[in-house]
Amino acid sequence: MTQIIAATNNPHKVEELRRILAPMGFEVLSLGQANISVHPEETAETFTGNALLKAQTVFDLCALPTIADDSGLCVKALGGRPGVHSARYGGEGLSDAQRVSRLLQEMEGVPEKERSAKFVCAICCFLNRDTVLECTGECEGRIGYEPVGEDGFGYDPVFMVGGRSYAQLNAEEKDAISHRGRALKNLQELLAPYQARAAAD
Ligand code: IMP
Repeated sequence: MTQIIAATNNPHKVEELRRILAPMGFEVLSLGQANISVHPEETAETFTGNALLKAQTVFDLCALPTIADDSGLCVKALGGRPGVHSARYGGEGLSDAQRVSRLLQEMEGVPEKERSAKFVCAICCFLNRDTVLECTGECEGRIGYEPVGEDGFGYDPVFMVGGRSYAQLNAEEKDAISHRGRALKNLQELLAPYQARAAAD
């Protein structure tokens, strides 16, 4: 198993990265497990730019394979917000439940046909200083009218795909269709030549 550091302080993301990357031959280490304490700035205006910033910051500290995810929810009726600001939507220090309420408030009165939204995930993976892989994944859905489901995190309870919220899907179901699952499937294709080379050495 190749060890790879997840450049995130979000334990839910570490868990998702771990379960999707394990079958691809990666042991995902959290920042804590790697004894790295850092909160990379997310100052870019794009998911891809922020994923690069996070991966670069952690790679510069440890020089070990590093993966970063930048993701968020883009709601059509809100002109694509909260987008790259999803983690800070409504202000710093709010809970996931408070951000969800805020979103539902903003969506009050928006009719069904205008409630489309998508989750976007950008991944940046440093295998070494010269080998940096980037990819994205998206999942189209709609914003519901109230939180439903027990699982997941963030906006999962109000992001509806095919009649169920992300929070009603089990891990396997979410990974199969989620923005992060799709981005990591794309990453797998980009990684294939390097894994084949490593196996041949
Ligand atoms: P960031 O990538 O650290 O900027 O955070 C992205 C934010 O988007 C998270 O804090 C969540 O609020 C939200 N988010 C990203 N992925 C998911 C997901 O799979 N489910 C629910 N919310 C998510």
